[in-house]
Amino acid sequence: MKKELISIIVSCYNEEESLPLFYDEIIKVAKQMNKMDFEFLFVNDGSKDKTLEILRKLSKKDKRVKYISFSRNFGKEAAMFAGLEKAKGDYITLMDADLQDPPALLPQMYKVIKDEGYDSVGTRRVTRKGEPIIRSFFARMFYKLINKMSKIEMVDGARDYRLMTRQVVNSIISLQEYNRYSKGLFSFVGYNTKWLEYENVERVAGETKWSFWKLFKYAIEGIVAFTTVPLTIATIMGLLCFVIAIIFIIFIFVKTMIYGDPVSGWPSLACIIIFCSGIQLFCLGIIGQYLAKTYLETKKRPIYIVKETEEDNKK
Ligand code: UDP
Ligand code: MG
Repeated sequence: MKKELISIIVSCYNEEESLPLFYDEIIKVAKQMNKMDFEFLFVNDGSKDKTLEILRKLSKKDKRVKYISFSRNFGKEAAMFAGLEKAKGDYITLMDADLQDPPALLPQMYKVIKDEGYDSVGTRRVTRKGEPIIRSFFARMFYKLINKMSKIEMVDGARDYRLMTRQVVNSIISLQEYNRYSKGLFSFVGYNTKWLEYENVERVAGETKWSFWKLFKYAIEGIVAFTTVPLTIATIMGLLCFVIAIIFIIFIFVKTMIYGDPVSGWPSLACIIIFCSGIQLFCLGIIGQYLAKTYLETKKRPIYIVKETEEDNKK
């Protein structure tokens, strides 16, 4: 009988320090799960260090190692998508190269799918140990906010580390949008997902590529991609201002009729103007966000561009 194939997709951006450590770990897991075939699919996301050279070497040494190297940095979302498209496995998993997603969980994840009949297994970290406090705070706020606004459930602390069946992956690939927000896409496609929980692990080597600002932009992307509630909020705010204005007009009209009209109150007027123009700009900004995303979608640019794969390396 043909062995089942597990594809392990690893997105790498400047991971020359962690890659060798990662490879050692994953090999151990592969040995442990000797009833399966493995495919290690590394996606080099335009690294500026020796990541690609390490991948070339690994692929020469180990036939199971495959790689895709991008022409520049396209971001982790693009890297994961490229990996999902190329992976041939019956089961497919996404992992980080920094060992923050413990490969040792894999056998357990596989069991959940195989024995308990789930279609995918996700992992979530229950602690945020080792992370700046402000970042954890904003992360929690973000999950609260987006879960209130969006029908798609986003799990707090969910990592991209997950094992999926072929069917789930096919569904994800069929979503061809340019602005990819994976956490939402995984949830959007549905299927039965079981969540495994574990304590946060710090990366083995190298540094995180996510600055606070990058995370903030990513959060906005998530909101814009999975809910239009902000647009409704803009509408309601406009409506509210309109109603308040009407009440004011009536009030001032009546007051002038009774008491006459001594010119006063310009400071309050100035405040009102600033307040209203503030709201206007804010709402315009919200609309702008959606428009910008629509604009990018309509261009239909490729999500990633491949410069080299392990096939080129064989020549
Ligand atoms: N990564 C990537 N492209 C990027 C940024 C990150 O492929 O533009 C990869 C990175 O190499 C790592 C994973 O995504 O394997 C997670 O990145 P990181 O560890 O910096 O994020 P964190 O774990 O701190 O959220
Ligand atoms: Mg990491």
